[in-house]
Amino acid sequence: MEHINYFKDLLGKLISSPSVSSEDPTLDRSNQGILEILENEAKAMNGVCLRQKVISDPPKDNLLIRFGPDVPGGLLLSGHTDTVPYDEKGWKTNPFELTEDPDFFYGLGVIDMKGFFAHALTAYREIMETSKMLRPLYLLATVDEETTMAGAKSFAAEASIRPDAIIIGEPTSLTPIFKHKGYMAYRITVNGKSCHSSNPDEGINAISIMNRIITGIETMAEHMKTSFRDDGFPVNYPTLNIGSVHGGDAPNRICGSCLLELDIRPTPATSPQMLDELLKKTVREAAGSSFERVQISELYPPIPPFETDPSSDLISICEKITGKRRAAVNYSTEASFLSTIGAPLVVLGAGDIADAHQINEKLPKREIEGINRFLREIIAACCM
Ligand SMILES: [Zn+2]
Repeated sequence: MEHINYFKDLLGKLISSPSVSSEDPTLDRSNQGILEILENEAKAMNGVCLRQKVISDPPKDNLLIRFGPDVPGGLLLSGHTDTVPYDEKGWKTNPFELTEDPDFFYGLGVIDMKGFFAHALTAYREIMETSKMLRPLYLLATVDEETTMAGAKSFAAEASIRPDAIIIGEPTSLTPIFKHKGYMAYRITVNGKSCHSSNPDEGINAISIMNRIITGIETMAEHMKTSFRDDGFPVNYPTLNIGSVHGGDAPNRICGSCLLELDIRPTPATSPQMLDELLKKTVREAAGSSFERVQISELYPPIPPFETDPSSDLISICEKITGKRRAAVNYSTEASFLSTIGAPLVVLGAGDIADAHQINEKLPKREIEGINRFLREIIAACCM
């Protein structure tokens, strides 16, 4: 009972400290409030806190907390401090106030993923009195997962710790996720030559060139679907989506410029480099002699797909504790970067991913005991 009160109290504090991250500077907030709450809790439990500056305006830092001895090995529990922006009109309650009904807790970030920090600190607090730590337990709080993943990238680039295992507590309904897709997004621009539609030969119609490119890209998407099948995924192939096309302004003008945006979600068997080359080859061939009028640019740096070796002990330990089979998911997480520090990684947390980024984000109360038990046992297995 005491630990659920601690959990609720801490979760309430975290929810009431806004930490929205957004490409829109009017919505983007610092994460200092969250870090101060976590530092205070950690210090009360003899945790050692280390900040890493990631962004200066507004100030955003990663925070690494260590419990237990400063020796190699141990366990890293990781979460992101930021949330997505919110649609105030849709919320039944104040998104920055923890509220509850008999079945759920509500608030922005209760599952994605301020809640994980509260679960992790509660679990450690319960066992720290009675068990001796032989290896360190790390708690990592990152910035800007919802936008650029700058926090996870910076941490992975400079990490000096070498844990034996990593858990990222994104909401998975307690299912151990051992692989996921990556993410790539592109803009393709065709620069034609506009003129009056009464004499088409005087211009170069950008829509016509883009039309050939779209046909080529759709053939490429079909090829990806049939040739790179991976039955481990719910959507069992790397997807490609043409998300927007804009071109032209009037029926009586030849279109001078046309723009297309698309995304690709690579599976672990299809690297971003390989699909990048395939896309560029496809566009070059489809455009033919007009290729000099075409520009291809990345909208964001690619997020690589992630996979932990299926034979890894960490996966079977997670399956054993939770009683749930391993799975793969179509979305991406910071695992793409944190796994590069060289330890097996599983994504596992409370709450349903379908409720993340939604109005009235909710944490099912029936999963709190399950994540608490999982965290106590995985900490014991890795650190004690
Ligand atoms: Zn998240």
